[in-house]
Amino acid sequence: MANSEPAPRISDLLRLPAGAVDLQAIDTRATPGFTGSGKADATTAICHLRPHLADMQEQLYAEGRTGGQRSLLLVLQGMDTAGKGSTVKHVVGLLDPMGVQYHAFKQPTIEEREHHFLWRVKRRLPPPGIVGVFDRSHYEDVIVVRVHELVPPETWSCRYSVINRFEGKLVASGTRVVKCFLHISKEEQRRRLLARLDDPAKHWKYNPGDVDERAYWDEYQQAYSDAFAQCNTDAAPWYAVPADRKWYRNWAVTKILTERLDEMALTWPNPQGWNPDKERARLAPDGWA
Ligand code: AMP
Ligand code: MG
Repeated sequence: MANSEPAPRISDLLRLPAGAVDLQAIDTRATPGFTGSGKADATTAICHLRPHLADMQEQLYAEGRTGGQRSLLLVLQGMDTAGKGSTVKHVVGLLDPMGVQYHAFKQPTIEEREHHFLWRVKRRLPPPGIVGVFDRSHYEDVIVVRVHELVPPETWSCRYSVINRFEGKLVASGTRVVKCFLHISKEEQRRRLLARLDDPAKHWKYNPGDVDERAYWDEYQQAYSDAFAQCNTDAAPWYAVPADRKWYRNWAVTKILTERLDEMALTWPNPQGWNPDKERARLAPDGWA
């Protein structure tokens, strides 16, 4: 019976297929897998996911504190205004900050430019037990760098395989890599830029340079599409999250994170080097021992 089938995993629904990707064919206002009716339902659904998500994060943290090697890296990419920062606030904000390591990658500094493009990335990888969050990432080195011809094509085109090897090793060493592309339409970006102009509380987010970047929309989409075709491995898959509806984006990234943590089959670590009964005996009220 159809209604007894398990609900599809959002990470399966949003996983980009292998090979060439037509980003234009993806509806950025779609809400795949969401059965509620809008923002209020999505907010409630996120509230319901939170306790389990928080437990798993704590188990991961506890594992890291007791000799485990595993961690998780959430990579967020998207056009300007796609909502990377907002996803950090609403989704990563559900987690205990003690177990989170966030980093936003900006234009490389002079020092960073002197090194291999992965140098600054390797320094920010999450240690055992930690959920790392990359707001932009090494993918900028095959995207903005390509669009603005910051290096010659023979340089950026070699980077795909370098990235695949790097991510493969990262996964083999115990880091789960979850890459989310927050996919908005050009029209939605226009609306969001206008909203930033209209609201003085959003002026700080407005960057006139974003309007200049808009002129390169198609080039960015092409660069993203090629990056996904080249670097969407089973070890480190890409998810395309329709992001015109902010509430769907937040719910979908929360679900993907939950599902990928579920796969880790996390548990509470056993006591190491001590025995609860013996410790309890040592805590007998004074005078009883
Ligand atoms: P924002 O995320 O709005 O704070 O902007 C950060 C800026 O840094 C964006 O315009 C990115 O394209 C740029 N950026 C990030 N990584 C690189 C990179 N490897 N090379 C050149 N620009 C970069
Ligand atoms: Mg920006």
